[in-house]
Amino acid sequence: MERINGCAAPVYLVGHTITRDVLTGAILHVFSSAGQPRGRLAVACGNRRASRCRSCAWLHAGDTFQLVVSGLAGGKGVPASVAGHPRAFVTLTAPSFGAVHRECPGEPCHPRRGGGLCAHGAPVGCGARHLDGDPVIGWPLCGGCYDYERAVLWNGHAGPLWDDFAKRVRVALASVAGVSRSELRAHVRLSFAKVAEYQRRGAVHLHAVVRLDGPDGPGTDEDPGLPPEWATVGMLEAAVRSAAGAALVHTTEPDVSGRLALRFGAQVDVRPITTAGEGSGLTDGAVAAYIAKYVTKGHIPGLVLDARVPSESHIEAAPLSDHGKALMRACWDLGEREEYAGLRLRDWSFQLGFRGNIATKSRLYSTTYGALRDARATFRQAAAEGLDFGDRQTVTESRWQFEDMGHTPGEALFAAGVALAAEGRREAARDARDDLTGGGAG
Ligand SMILES: [Zn+2]
Ligand SMILES: [Zn+2]
Ligand SMILES: [Zn+2]
Repeated sequence: MERINGCAAPVYLVGHTITRDVLTGAILHVFSSAGQPRGRLAVACGNRRASRCRSCAWLHAGDTFQLVVSGLAGGKGVPASVAGHPRAFVTLTAPSFGAVHRECPGEPCHPRRGGGLCAHGAPVGCGARHLDGDPVIGWPLCGGCYDYERAVLWNGHAGPLWDDFAKRVRVALASVAGVSRSELRAHVRLSFAKVAEYQRRGAVHLHAVVRLDGPDGPGTDEDPGLPPEWATVGMLEAAVRSAAGAALVHTTEPDVSGRLALRFGAQVDVRPITTAGEGSGLTDGAVAAYIAKYVTKGHIPGLVLDARVPSESHIEAAPLSDHGKALMRACWDLGEREEYAGLRLRDWSFQLGFRGNIATKSRLYSTTYGALRDARATFRQAAAEGLDFGDRQTVTESRWQFEDMGHTPGEALFAAGVALAAEGRREAARDARDDLTGGGAG
């Protein structure tokens, strides 16, 4: 239970792994489930959602943090010289789909002199000064006026819109370099890592680290893989701004009257990333802290669910706000229409139409989740069993099969205790580190 950090829903396997010396064929080590409690090996579930398994979700968030940080400051196989590459932190927002209540402790939410009502009989203004934590923040002033269909179609196109943005950044770089887009790869590469964050209104915002590398990516300890001299951070910033303003995807208008153009919101934030002590700007440590915040931040209550919704009646019965339900219903209604089939809006209604993973990266940005998990497994196995094969080349042969999953009620209690203790140790370690560095960076 300690080894899987009190995972809430472990999988049990039976089988063995045999490690041999490549040259002699001699068996160096045998690991078998026969030696484990009840003759089976417990493996952590690996779920990314804290509502399913806090322990595994925490590990995943930590891995995301490492993926992003290693691409900024080096480590995990990325040379430290990557900190010298042009880099920027970009936030791309969704446009407005209608007026929503906002956090505004010092001023009225939506002042309207003379008041007035909309066609649905709701006030068009709101004089409240909403404090942080007010549940109405993010909810529309009028659900009838809010464009739910466009809101979920936008979430459904956030991925393609990002792809169009990245393509336009490359076009802008190619035009500065005076080469074609296909030739650009021979000069410079655009690498990125991005995280999606739900706003309280249910729209997704994208936060990304973008970086320019030489043609082979981030380079090695011997060859820093620097991009050409013309590829400066100022030019990256300009390319990102123009691409964010121009990025565009089309779909069908919900009333089928024509094509609907989807763009990013006007609020585009681009900031060069520097290393600590090197002039002004956002430091890579601060960016890593932002990313960690977005990744570890729990979902907004009542807005999204942690698993697919099997039927429309499940939406009505789910623990959601009226706003969350209205967004999911819009996914459900549009999802049955042929023109939106590619968006699979019913499958993704639990994420308000947004498809796929919260964090993604380009191939050459840094390491991979798989590599981080493998390194952790190897480290743990070696630590647990005192294995050290020295310089010998080894080969492993594994045979494992599924046996069972989940805890008994007694085990579940015990697992929760182990997970809670692990969380306490992590908090204490972080407090100690913050005390040392004098900062509460994350
Ligand atoms: Zn788990
Ligand atoms: Zn308000
Ligand atoms: Zn209205």
